[in-house]
Amino acid sequence: MLEKDTTNTVELISQGIGQTKGSGSIQASSLARGASSKEIRSDDDDPDVFSYNREMKLKDRNISEQQFAKFEGYAAEIFTAFGLDLNTSGTEDTPKRFIRALFDSTDGYDGDPKLVKAFDTECHDEAGCALSQIIQGPIPFHALCEHHVLPFYGRVYIGYIADKNIIGISKLTRLVRLFSRRFAVQERIGQEIADLLDAMIHPDGIAIYIEAHHLCMEMRGVREITPMTRTTVWRGKYSEDPTLRSEFFASCGLQRHD
Ligand SMILES: [Zn+2]
Ligand SMILES: [Zn+2]
Repeated sequence: MLEKDTTNTVELISQGIGQTKGSGSIQASSLARGASSKEIRSDDDDPDVFSYNREMKLKDRNISEQQFAKFEGYAAEIFTAFGLDLNTSGTEDTPKRFIRALFDSTDGYDGDPKLVKAFDTECHDEAGCALSQIIQGPIPFHALCEHHVLPFYGRVYIGYIADKNIIGISKLTRLVRLFSRRFAVQERIGQEIADLLDAMIHPDGIAIYIEAHHLCMEMRGVREITPMTRTTVWRGKYSEDPTLRSEFFASCGLQRHD
């Protein structure tokens, strides 16, 4: 569950509303006449590096082998007390696997060296450029809820109004992973993606839509189907212009007009 102080930005919607287009699609929608189309090109040779280390919010995680062994002991004690027989060939290494899986699932704290560079758009100064929004998604993600350390998973859609730089789907996917592979809160993932995207490419507006299933609710609930949790982040031009927000939802295939 999300913290109380963030629920004003959260709505619960039924499963199925968020029907999506093809996976990983990119759309450059021209909202103003004369807007140039944007092209995604390879940026592997771009020398520009942006100062954004602060927004990555990395943690120094140096876990020794002795610490891992101790943690595996804790896990074994809990699993045994809760009913798991660790004396079978299938389960004898379960505490070790569990601790490693927990560590791997939270490697967003370790950063991503391939997430450094952005690159120039094709249209620097042309009229209309500032009103072209680029929408990417759905980007699938998995995270661990920081309240229960159980998974929540779903899709992220990212829209932005490019100023001078654009960013490709592979980097946006890395960006999503950087913040979702942690002990996380859905609303905060959206804010963190927006903060880092802003630091990387300085767009004139950012829109983030996240829809997710929270296993901490679904595994323990009585209902077979629980609503997806839906969060949005609006920055810059998106917070000022409802038409842009509608365009964003429509382009995501969400057909919502709020
Ligand atoms: Zn949750
Ligand atoms: Zn939870």
